[in-house]
Amino acid sequence: MTRPLPPVHFLLVDDLEENLVSLEALLKRDELVILKARSGDEALELLLEHDVGLALLDVQMPGMDGFELAEFMRGSDRTRNIPIIFVTAGTSDARRRFRGYEAGAVDFIQKPIESDVLRSKANVFFDLCRQRQVVAAQRDELEAASRALVTADRRKDEFLATLAHELRNPLAAVKAGIRLLERREDAGQAAEIRDQMDRRIGYLTRLVDDLLDISRISEGKISLRKERVELRAIVQAAVEASQVDLDDANHAFSLDLPNEEVWLEVDPVRMAQVIANLLNNAAKYTPPGGNIALKVRADDGRVELCVQDDGVGIPLDMQTRIFKIFEQVSEHRSRAAGGLGIGLALVRQIVELHGGSIAVESAGERAGSAFTVKLPAVSPREITVTA
Ligand code: ADP
Repeated sequence: MTRPLPPVHFLLVDDLEENLVSLEALLKRDELVILKARSGDEALELLLEHDVGLALLDVQMPGMDGFELAEFMRGSDRTRNIPIIFVTAGTSDARRRFRGYEAGAVDFIQKPIESDVLRSKANVFFDLCRQRQVVAAQRDELEAASRALVTADRRKDEFLATLAHELRNPLAAVKAGIRLLERREDAGQAAEIRDQMDRRIGYLTRLVDDLLDISRISEGKISLRKERVELRAIVQAAVEASQVDLDDANHAFSLDLPNEEVWLEVDPVRMAQVIANLLNNAAKYTPPGGNIALKVRADDGRVELCVQDDGVGIPLDMQTRIFKIFEQVSEHRSRAAGGLGIGLALVRQIVELHGGSIAVESAGERAGSAFTVKLPAVSPREITVTA
């Protein structure tokens, strides 16, 4: 059980304060809240506010007596099934006087009250109420789990539909390219067609690679090939991989690295993939001619890599969700360039496998975004940070 159970409530109804006080003292126990009412009306008010596991009703009260109160309780769905113990003045025909009252647990106890008898009866109802709470909590958890499964299932269906579409488009283009190549003699045109086909195949390969990575990571099958590397080499590989995307959109790119060497113990290929992915996203989600910066700071055994853009920004409510697989900001879909919402999930998993973390900051729509990756460095060094 993940959440603690709420306390059990018992309701005591008696017109005499001293009776209420002594009953309360008798029944007191952990995780039990005792509600006290001096009249039937007060009791009905309390019943509106609380779920009650047992009602202990004095039969003889001025105004509404215990039996009338019980009739009222039977009249409402909310209180119909509350077990009742009537406290009677000791005449055995009280049972007969209470008619038409068959449903639910009803018990009688006579004054003077035998404490042990009442306590053991009350304990039975306490346990019953607890069991009901446990069952209700389990039902809630099951319902939540089943809702989550339905959502996940729907997202998987949507994903498969998009994936099929994304795979079919480049395949169709490649097929058309082959037909054209068969017909054309012109060497220049053939080279252009081959180039296009190559790009499409590159895109397909990237998509399939990401998909494979995701399933490997979620099955815990990914193995990092960690080695000691200087950060500069990784950054260089990442920038090279993203250069085409940055140039195509005519973005201004700036790189801010520490003067001193920063050594990491990471899988250099995976880490370059992380940075390249963030740079590609910055390029995609920034209108042409934007500004993109990669800033690295190293301090006290930690490295912070920040990829900043002045693009479309990310709404606040999506800022944690985008790190989950298949999550995309719906208004951004036209810019996703065939992306399926896998990249950031993969990035986060790789960063976390390295003992690091990733977060995003964005002041919202059109306010740009800044993704910061934090990683442990191999040995703490004093590093001067360039402005
Ligand atoms: P994809 O880009 O393929 O959709 P990602 O997992 O890389 O998948 O990103 C998930 C979503 O996060 C994107 O669809 C986009 O809505 C949002 N996003 C990612 N990077 C940025 C960015 N730099 N600026 C604005 N939105 C971004």
